[in-house]
Amino acid sequence: MECPANTSSLLETRHLKKYFKVKGGLLHAVDDVNIAIPHNRTLGVVGESGCGKSTLGRTIIRLLDATDGQVLFNGEDILKYGRRKMKAMRRKMQIIFQDPYSSINPRMSVAEIIAEFMIVHNTCSSRTAAFQRAAELMDTVGLARRYANVYPHELDGGRRQRIGIARALSLDPQFIVCDEPVSALDVSIQAQILNLLMDIQEDRGLTYMFITHDLSVVKHISDEIIVMYLGQCVEQAASDELFENPMHPYTKALLSAIPEPDISMRTKEIKIIKGEITSPINPQPGCRFAARCEYAMDICREQTPPLLSPWDLRQEIEKPGGKHFVACHLYTGNGHSE
Ligand code: SF4
Repeated sequence: MECPANTSSLLETRHLKKYFKVKGGLLHAVDDVNIAIPHNRTLGVVGESGCGKSTLGRTIIRLLDATDGQVLFNGEDILKYGRRKMKAMRRKMQIIFQDPYSSINPRMSVAEIIAEFMIVHNTCSSRTAAFQRAAELMDTVGLARRYANVYPHELDGGRRQRIGIARALSLDPQFIVCDEPVSALDVSIQAQILNLLMDIQEDRGLTYMFITHDLSVVKHISDEIIVMYLGQCVEQAASDELFENPMHPYTKALLSAIPEPDISMRTKEIKIIKGEITSPINPQPGCRFAARCEYAMDICREQTPPLLSPWDLRQEIEKPGGKHFVACHLYTGNGHSE
C-alpha cells in the first residue's frame, strides 16, 4: 500500500532509483533513496565524488530520467508528468551548478543570460520587461548593473556564480538544487555566496537541496543532512545532531577529516578510510562500505543494513536533537554496538 504524501514537505522522494547501463551491467548511481524536505528548509547532501549526490539532484528535477520510484512535489508525483506539465513545473524547480560557465552560452552577455529563461517561458510582458527584471535580479544577487553588457569570461568565479543564482531565480522557483555551488570558489568568496543563498532563502521562502563533498560548508547552510555512499543514504539527521553525534563509521571518518583552523584545537584523530571502493555496478547484497569499514562483521557482507532510527530500535524516546537514522548493522541488534 502506498503511503499518503507528507503534506509538510515541499519535496519527497520515495524509493528513487537511477541506474545507468554500462559495460558489465547496471551502475546503481542512486539506489532506493527516500528523502523529505519541508518548505523553506535546506537538506544538505554529502559524500565523496561518485556517491550519486549530483545524480540524485538531477534526477529529482528530471534533468535525468529516473529508473524507478517517485518524486513528490507538493504531494504530486512529477515523474508521471507529460512534457507540457513538466515544462510548467520546471519554473518551480531550478538548479545552480558548480561551474555556471559550463551551462551558459559564452556568447551571451550577463543580462541576456539572466533574461533568457524569462523570454523562453514567456513570463514577462515583453523583452524590455525581461531585461528590466534581469537588472533587478542583478541587484538581488549583488552584481553591479555595470556588468549587464559584459560576457561571463570577463568575470571572476564569484561573479559568475552570482549570474547562475540570478538565472535560477528568474522564474521565481520554489525549490533549487544547489550542486556544489561554492566548491570551485576561494574560501572568502565561498562565505559570500553561502550568505547570499541564505539571505535569498529567507526573503523568498525557498527550499534548497544543497549538494557538496565539503562537510564544513554543509553544516553552515543545512537544517538536515543526508550522507550518501555508493548511491545509498547511510545516515540522516538534523545538522547539529549529525555533527555532535555521528553514528555511521563512514560519517565519522568524513567528520574527522574536516580541517581544524585553530592549531591548538587540532587534537582529534583523523580516521583514514582504507580499502578498495566496492563497485557500484551490479552491487551484491550487503553493506557497500564493508570493504573499507574497520568494524565489518560477517552479516555486513551478507545483508544490506536498513536505514533505521536506532532510538526507535532501542525503544527510547526521541532524542532531543531530533530524529536520527543510520544504515549500519552496529545498531540493528545484529552486531556489537559501539
Ligand atoms: Fe561497517 Fe557493517 Fe556498519 Fe557497514 S554495516 S558500516 S560494514 S559495521
